Amino acid sequence: MHAFAGLIRAVPDFPRSGVLFRDITPLLADPRGFAGCIAALAAPWREAGVQAVCGIEARGFIFGAALAQALGAGFVPLRKPGKLPPPVLAVDYQLEYGSDRLEARSDALKPGERVLLVDDVLATGGTLAAAQALISRFGAELAGASVVIELEALCGRGRWSGGQPLHALLRY
Ligand code: 5GP
Repeated sequence: MHAFAGLIRAVPDFPRSGVLFRDITPLLADPRGFAGCIAALAAPWREAGVQAVCGIEARGFIFGAALAQALGAGFVPLRKPGKLPPPVLAVDYQLEYGSDRLEARSDALKPGERVLLVDDVLATGGTLAAAQALISRFGAELAGASVVIELEALCGRGRWSGGQPLHALLRY
């Protein structure tokens, strides 16, 4: 287990009854813990030729931007609908109740550019799969993905396709 694991707070019944929410904000507030987390996220990718880190709104921005700096790569935000000025590329995906959409500026990635996807938590895997689909629409080359936390009981890894590495620092 990484030393920073103790900085993640488990919150029962949030955002609704029956959900055990993993709160990463105490980790962000701890300078050594956050630095250790970013170093651990970066470690598998140092020699991977990553040119752009794509972070998923909103907590993926925090980890992704720091990770992009650590890897000497650019940062590209994948945003919820209506946040970016046009033109954008978009992918719709299903949630437990309803649907959502991820968007990126239409010139955010170049064909063949090597991309690393980052988010805080892998739960059911729908968000990461949608981000993967969005990156493929650019013709970019997905190097893989990293998340801070994987909630194994929700089997999100099963929705990750293509065989690229998917790293998780902590598994619950
Ligand atoms: P999925 O699409 O894999 O079901 O959900 C992943 C998305 O939901 C991530 O973008 C993540 O930020 C958010 N998420 C789901 N569960 C948790 C949780 O327990 N803690 C945090 N911090 N985010 C969560």
